[in-house]
Amino acid sequence: MDCLFCKIVAGTIPSPRVYEDEDCIAIADIHPQAPTHILVIPREHISSLAEATEEDRELLGHLLWVTSQIARDKNLKNGYRTVFNSGDDGGQTVDHLHIHLLGGRSLSWPPG
Ligand code: AMP
Ligand code: ZN
Repeated sequence: MDCLFCKIVAGTIPSPRVYEDEDCIAIADIHPQAPTHILVIPREHISSLAEATEEDRELLGHLLWVTSQIARDKNLKNGYRTVFNSGDDGGQTVDHLHIHLLGGRSLSWPPG
């Protein structure tokens, strides 16, 4: 499959890992939108949150848990934001589910 994040998971496209385990990896976003901007990516290809099935429930919980642990490791004591962009209206540009972890500055709300 021609998927950027599948290639990063496979190592075909090199990208240093902030974290990895048997179910997911975490990498720095190539165009950071905050001082800390990390992507938590499941090894399995799931196109988006909208495509996730009941079988993915445990994996989805794991991804959020890992994200919270990375935020702790990065010492984001003042807070942070976690984002799933899904589909065109959600602004998703890479069709392989991922969580954005953004922190290190005050983030505005609502998003654009
Ligand atoms: P989204 O727009 O929610 O699908 O998020 C995709 C994210 O992937 C964007 O924030 C991009 O900056 C990021 N991105 C694209 N290519 C790479 C890459 N090669 N390594 C790391 N992050 C990437
Ligand atoms: Zn993929």
